[in-house]
Amino acid sequence: MKKPVDIANALQVNRPEMGDFTGVSLYRLFRLVAMEDIMGMGASAISYYAGKKLGLAMQFKEVGDFLALCEQLKIGRIDIPVLTNDFIHVDVYECVTCSGLSPVGRCLCHFEGGLIAGAVEGILGKKVQAKEVTCIGGLGDESCGFDLVIDPPGRIQVV
Ligand SMILES: [Zn+2]
Repeated sequence: MKKPVDIANALQVNRPEMGDFTGVSLYRLFRLVAMEDIMGMGASAISYYAGKKLGLAMQFKEVGDFLALCEQLKIGRIDIPVLTNDFIHVDVYECVTCSGLSPVGRCLCHFEGGLIAGAVEGILGKKVQAKEVTCIGGLGDESCGFDLVIDPPGRIQVV
């Protein structure tokens, strides 16, 4: 019987000699080179949507759970410098997608933006949109910064 690979299944890793982490390069080759080669700039929108669905499906109860996953998956070092009822800003340092690239003149981290938006949307139960406004590898910025707009406004509990 054919069935989809769900999150829990995907995270089961059995590699006795190789371990459960691979290099950043494999993910980047898939996301930035192969996906964009086939889908062009459409890869950005698909990556955002994929991240958002995943962020929602994780069913985080609080921000701390999401931050723990980011640490576990080594997505980057996360900081949340702005947190209000209707606006959140998230900075990702050492971003897995782009940190270290020579700038290409555009933001690259749509998957991470979607993941953050989906996680926060699930926690708040309110529609959340993320837009990447700074990008380390894409634009030469210090962090990959995401503006999150919450509609309708709601208070998030940081633990
Ligand atoms: Zn970025």
